Amino acid sequence: MARTQNSQNFDTIAIHAGQEFDPTTGAVIPPIYQTSTYVQESIGHLRGGYEYSRGGNPTRTVLETLLAALEGGKHGLSFASGLAAEDTILRALLAPGDHIVLGNDVYGGTHRLINRVHGAWGILNSTVEMSDLAAVEEAIIPGETKILWVETPSNPLMKVCDIAALVEIGHRHGVTVIVDNTFASPALQQPLAFGADVVVHSTTKYLGGHSDVLGGALIINDDALAEKAQFLQFAAGPVSAPMDAWLTVRGIKTLSVRMDRHCSNAQAIAEHLQDHPAIDRVYYPGLSTHPGHELAKKQMSGFGGMLSISFVGGAAAARSFAESTHLFQLAESLGGVESLVNYPSEMTHASVRGTELEVADNIIRLSVGIEDVADLIDDIDRALAAA
Ligand SMILES: *Cc1c(COP(=O)(O)O)cnc(C)c1O
Repeated sequence: MARTQNSQNFDTIAIHAGQEFDPTTGAVIPPIYQTSTYVQESIGHLRGGYEYSRGGNPTRTVLETLLAALEGGKHGLSFASGLAAEDTILRALLAPGDHIVLGNDVYGGTHRLINRVHGAWGILNSTVEMSDLAAVEEAIIPGETKILWVETPSNPLMKVCDIAALVEIGHRHGVTVIVDNTFASPALQQPLAFGADVVVHSTTKYLGGHSDVLGGALIINDDALAEKAQFLQFAAGPVSAPMDAWLTVRGIKTLSVRMDRHCSNAQAIAEHLQDHPAIDRVYYPGLSTHPGHELAKKQMSGFGGMLSISFVGGAAAARSFAESTHLFQLAESLGGVESLVNYPSEMTHASVRGTELEVADNIIRLSVGIEDVADLIDDIDRALAAA
């Protein structure tokens, strides 16, 4: 758990927060404390506050301090995966009989966790169109709804919803507002500044940025809630391992420069595709035709590296495209330096088939990497010609 008061700017924070050179050797990079336990000076007298690595580890502390600073929050907690972070905050806030309102296009794994895992313990949920503020207000059951779960831009249709307006509605009803900020990353959007109570991340994606490590995070301002989440982190043990925390810190150092390139590459690809005869629609908030464009301009400092396209030729054309690209490799996940193509209805969103969250079968999602954009467009054009 980390506290920060940082007056530096984002790009500096990303490289330095929580990190000082090693006082014993002068090593610029804080070492990976690959240890499960710590020798005590005398019984109960700890050196530096560390007792056992489930409770705390110096490499994890670096990451947790950094995460809090990046989101402008007070407390950062790091986890073994995004879903481990989500599970922890759900358990910190909910008791059987409580109700949660979530977007009708949240990450499929989030819906599965809330609906099937927490649902089995008596947690009720409603899915709602988060960009429809009246519908959100209507979905809240006074006294029973405890969480409003917001994801913007959403996956895979890149819908943008108004964080400040949702916070206003939530707080008026005593509801905790949680924002999954995985798609934007703190380089482009900082939900706590709009009044959100908790930020959730799958650090597996843009924060780690290299498709080589799983992780999750919670950033929380409220001391009592942070303490509850920290207790669960210790008591249930879904913590990030030292090596994983270190890899994530390493990735975060280049977050800003990576996001710049992700954004400019995705913008160029979206513009290239929007008039293509094989493409029905391009879903990218950076296009002025996107319904969330103005709002995204207001609450984000860039439009991100994720875009989706729907095919005039239906499922067959979409599948053929996804299997024809080379630079865009066919894989789940997103946010790495390398470009990926995904067929949501059978890959990332297979778990929500048959529900309101089902994704149309003519949709392809692209995680646009930071390769040379001319090569990426060439790859797309070849696949479109083959599709
Ligand atoms: C991947 C993802 C998650 C889940 O994170 P894991 O690290 O895979 O557990 C949650 N939310 C969003 C938006 C994601 O993309």
